[in-house]
Amino acid sequence: MRDIIILACTECKNRNYNTDKNKKNNPDRIEMKKYCKHCKKHTLHKETK
Ligand SMILES: [Zn+2]
Repeated sequence: MRDIIILACTECKNRNYNTDKNKKNNPDRIEMKKYCKHCKKHTLHKETK
């Protein structure tokens, strides 16, 4: 029951990371602080489709 999701930078909108999650455990959109190579800093990344 694991689905691949894409994490996109909320500042530059680039899709920087692929990850997966368990939809049963995480039904909501996940947000993670990750390094964005386009912004050259850590930004908030949100799940996108
Ligand atoms: Zn960015």
